[in-house]
Formats: sequence, structure tokens, C-alpha cells
Amino acid sequence: MILTVKTKSQTELIDITFEIQQLVSSSGINEGLCILFVPHTTAAVTINENADPSVPADIIMVLNKIVPWEAGYRHLEGNSPAHLKSTLVGVSELIIIENSKLFLGTWQGIFFCEFDGPRTRKLHVRFLPTKYKE
Ligand code: ZN
Repeated sequence: MILTVKTKSQTELIDITFEIQQLVSSSGINEGLCILFVPHTTAAVTINENADPSVPADIIMVLNKIVPWEAGYRHLEGNSPAHLKSTLVGVSELIIIENSKLFLGTWQGIFFCEFDGPRTRKLHVRFLPTKYKE
């Protein structure tokens, strides 16, 4: 299945934990794995704290420092920083499903990472069920 994510900014981390949990709940899976894959070269997916909004803000701040806007890039499209951030953060996540819930830590949430927005993005979601609800 595919989750559509409409991003609003050039660089943005969007909490999609609730949407992914809804897909898990409606799948009928009790135990298994949830695979997330971003089919874009200037976006990513990551898991980190979603309780304090300063955490995703700090992640963006540091990524902007690590990957400068001007660095003599060769890519003519002009969005090389977004490509680099996608590679640094990564385009996939694997999450355990237990008792029909994403087995995340107390403070963990799933973020879709936009680095070249705003755009309408896709996030592919697949499940590997080992046990269905009885
Ligand atoms: Zn490009």
C-alpha cells in the first residue's frame, strides 16, 4: 500500500506514526514486520523523538549545517543538498509489529523527511505477517 504525504515546506519532518499505525491496525496483523520505503531521491524516512518538536527542528538545523546549500555541486538541477540529505538519512525503515501495534520506544515516532518540497510524495508500506489476529 501507499501513503500519500503532501509536504508544505522546502525542508520538513512530518510525523506519520498515526497514519502507519492505522494501516497496521486495519491489516489484521498481530505479529510481523512493517517495511517503509521512500521511492524518491530527495526525501527520506527516519525514526526519532516525536514528543518534543525541538528534536525534528534540531535534526533539520544540523543537516543544513552538514550539507551546505553552496558547495560547488555538479548536479545541474540545483538540488544536490536534498539528494545528499536523502542519502544521509536513508529511504527505508523496518519496524516490528507486536500485538497489532508498531513496536516503537516510548518516545519514538516515524517521520517522513522532505528535503526538496513542497511536493506530493509517496511512501510505500509493506507488511511481513508472522501471525494474524484470531
Ligand atoms: Zn536533482
